[in-house]
Amino acid sequence: MAKQAAPLQQLIDQFSRFSGVGRKNATRMAYQVMGMTDAEADALADAIRAAHRRLHRCKVCQDYTEEELCPICQSTKRDRSVICVVESPRDVTAFERTREYNGLYHVLHGLFSPMDGIGADQLCIRELLARLQDGTVKEVIMATSPTVEGDVTATYLARLIKPLGIKTTRLAYGLPVGGSLEYADGTTLYRALSGRGEM
Ligand SMILES: [Zn+2]
Repeated sequence: MAKQAAPLQQLIDQFSRFSGVGRKNATRMAYQVMGMTDAEADALADAIRAAHRRLHRCKVCQDYTEEELCPICQSTKRDRSVICVVESPRDVTAFERTREYNGLYHVLHGLFSPMDGIGADQLCIRELLARLQDGTVKEVIMATSPTVEGDVTATYLARLIKPLGIKTTRLAYGLPVGGSLEYADGTTLYRALSGRGEM
């Protein structure tokens, strides 16, 4: 079998880094890029570069934003007494789609996963605790996925937060067990949120 040209090989290696993308799909994606016009390929490369250079984590909630604070943290219309704790920025988008939640968020950027070596230090927990010190927050909703990692993370956080005299709640799960929040439809997510129970 003839070896692929080095630049093509590099492109396949880069696409292989995406989770869920195997060698075969990475190869398919690389050939799709080769089928693009120069302008299309440039636009793709520019979009990746711009997202990386211009976006960073919001100083407060850790979601991605172009400014120092994200629009939700900046808003005067949001209820500042509630924080919804989620695994990833994708989950913020999912909750915002329901249009029913008016509180704030906190993005952990991961869940506990001892097998992958992910513990408290790799998650944005310190940043969350810092937000709970001034007495504004009355409730923290644990909106991590209904998976083992999601449950362990929620239980760990609840143990840290309860002693601060703040109510800790967990989403009610009509959500598919083992499923990811981002795939739940708006109605399911809204029900999970409004049926939440104290931990
Ligand atoms: Zn923010």
